[in-house]
Amino acid sequence: MLAMNLLLPYHFLRAGWATRHLHGDTLQDYQDRKVREIIRYAALHSPFYRELWKGRDLDDWRNLPTVDKAAMMAHFGTFNTRGITKEEAFSVALHAERSRDFAPTVRRDVTVGLSSGTSGHRGAFLVSSAETAAWAGTVLRRVLHRLPRPGYRVAFFLRSNSNLYERIGGRVRFRWFDLMTPILEAVSALNIYAPDLLVGPPSLLLSLAEMAKRGLLTIRPERLVSVAETLEDQDKTELESTFGVPVGQVYQCTEGFLAATCRAGRLHINEDLVTIQYEKLDEGTGQPGQRVSPIITDLWRRTQPIIRYRLGDILTLEDDTTPCPCGSRFQVIRAVEGRCDDVCAFPDASTGELRRFYPDTIRRMILLADERVTDYAAVQDAPGSLSIHLAIAGESDFAVVRASVLQSATDILGRYGCYAERLEIVAGLPHIPPGVKRRRVISLAGRSAQRQPVLPGRCSIK
Ligand SMILES: [Zn+2]
Repeated sequence: MLAMNLLLPYHFLRAGWATRHLHGDTLQDYQDRKVREIIRYAALHSPFYRELWKGRDLDDWRNLPTVDKAAMMAHFGTFNTRGITKEEAFSVALHAERSRDFAPTVRRDVTVGLSSGTSGHRGAFLVSSAETAAWAGTVLRRVLHRLPRPGYRVAFFLRSNSNLYERIGGRVRFRWFDLMTPILEAVSALNIYAPDLLVGPPSLLLSLAEMAKRGLLTIRPERLVSVAETLEDQDKTELESTFGVPVGQVYQCTEGFLAATCRAGRLHINEDLVTIQYEKLDEGTGQPGQRVSPIITDLWRRTQPIIRYRLGDILTLEDDTTPCPCGSRFQVIRAVEGRCDDVCAFPDASTGELRRFYPDTIRRMILLADERVTDYAAVQDAPGSLSIHLAIAGESDFAVVRASVLQSATDILGRYGCYAERLEIVAGLPHIPPGVKRRRVISLAGRSAQRQPVLPGRCSIK
């Protein structure tokens, strides 16, 4: 608690200072110094990293071997620096999930959380109270943008609560809503609570927008923040027009608080918390944008050190380096496209070789086809095959919409010299159980082939 009381305000102020002062060489030196400290600590206290780095020059940290979630989970007990076993962590976390009481800690001050595991395997993460304070102070600074007025109310919808949210009160009031809460129940609670800031996954925010359009939800938040799922452009537009306020996002995962939208509407990486190396994904696909996959090193976390960690996400970066009106020079992310696992593959018509199609290309293939498409899901269960599930506007003729989506898919594949061996267009969306992360483009082929890539290249190896 002491750590929370002192460290949270410290990190709130530090985050403000960092935004204004860290850039160029100063930022490079700052990150380099913090990484070296973390590496020295991990080499002493994490048997996994010690073994992994045996015989390596630790000063040359940019070239140390990479790790990923599978490695972290496989070596859980030696990866963390407290010797906490996977069994111990899961037993505390699962108990908390079942009882929906998120107060227990594993050991004195270590909190455990579970990630829902978009790539199939569940992850457990460990944070100490000092790390929680660093996280919370920075999140508050970057998400609220300024010191809020007393009594400012934040409502957030997440799959699970964590005792850390309950402890970051003070002048801001927080209320956690379980994602499992039936929507009408959530609506009446929100109407009474009247949040100034509404935070949740876009799929949930869209359900609330629907309730607002029907006149059931009457809140007037000043801003919305999307978390946990990819925020697609059409959803952002829909939310902004329904609520009449800006929609920002927090790009965060169990591996850290990676980026947040500033008051000028740009998604800046928190370069004072993480340093990111970018791996260019294959060029020459002809699809627009330069895509990268991040390898992250967390500058603060010592309980479960995250060093040269492959995240498996696909990002496009903003190449405009003029300073942002918000005052931050931290790198801006143009789009978080999705998971590397969700890259789809189709055969080249002349060579038969598989070529990759990024989630964003699949997305545009469907959305640009017909304006009567209101929602969709695209599932690739084997290379060359695609099932497109469509929801369409009320009175529309499905056969007509189906024909235009089919035409668009064939055209776009053809533009890159590829074709589909099986292309199926289905009416209605697949059911997503509450609490499960929504992804509109899913490659089951990519997921099952995590160790044996369907396609050559880094991204599909994850
Ligand atoms: Zn900015």
